[in-house]
Amino acid sequence: MMRINLSINKTQSRFLDKVESLSGENIYACYQCGKCSAGCPGISKMDLFPSEIIRLIQFGEEEEVLESKTPWICASCFTCTIRCPKGVDLSKVMEAVRQIILRKNIDHVSPLSISKKMLSQLPQIALVSSFRKFTS
Ligand code: SF4
Ligand code: SF4
Repeated sequence: MMRINLSINKTQSRFLDKVESLSGENIYACYQCGKCSAGCPGISKMDLFPSEIIRLIQFGEEEEVLESKTPWICASCFTCTIRCPKGVDLSKVMEAVRQIILRKNIDHVSPLSISKKMLSQLPQIALVSSFRKFTS
């Protein structure tokens, strides 16, 4: 009988532990029902479904998760959180992934790349909240 090895190595496990400690969520509670992805309003703009993000984290696939657009598209609307039968707050998981990137001093959007014209036209409150989400 063929055996499938589902264990993860130390590096993969460190990434999983980091996401769990930053988010406070039990990543292994997810059993891939897909209800989070089915209700997510941002899904059409995401390159990975929210349920795929959590699956990759379970397997410690750091690179794939950190390179995904999905955590940046996530609007923290909590629809997934309400729909999850296992009580996983995926919006916190997305925030944890963003924090892992931002804590490396990597800006997702550089304030310097925004033109003066745009800065004068965009609502101040939107700029402030965007900088909080997208910059280190
Ligand atoms: S919190 Fe993020 S991942 Fe969850 S439903 Fe809203 S946009 Fe989608
Ligand atoms: S709704 Fe919850 S259990 Fe279902 S796939 Fe999403 S995170 Fe996992």
